[in-house]
Amino acid sequence: MKVEVNQSKCDTTGLCVKICPEVFRFQEGSKRATVILDPIPVVYWEKCLKAARECPNKAVIIQKQPGIEYKV
Ligand code: SF4
Repeated sequence: MKVEVNQSKCDTTGLCVKICPEVFRFQEGSKRATVILDPIPVVYWEKCLKAARECPNKAVIIQKQPGIEYKV
């Protein structure tokens, strides 16, 4: 799994950082979230999907990979 944060949509609310601090961090300066792991270890997939579902701005993008289905 690969995950991105759409910087133009992120409003720094930080829900993703709260849900999965192992993957999401605030950037210094802008305070927008960014992803610090690539690819995402399987152990964090569920939390990343939760972050994508709960991000109020739909800024967390789960990149599809062939052969793997995610329920976002
Ligand atoms: S939950 Fe969404 S809007 Fe909030 S910090 Fe994370 S990516 Fe940005």
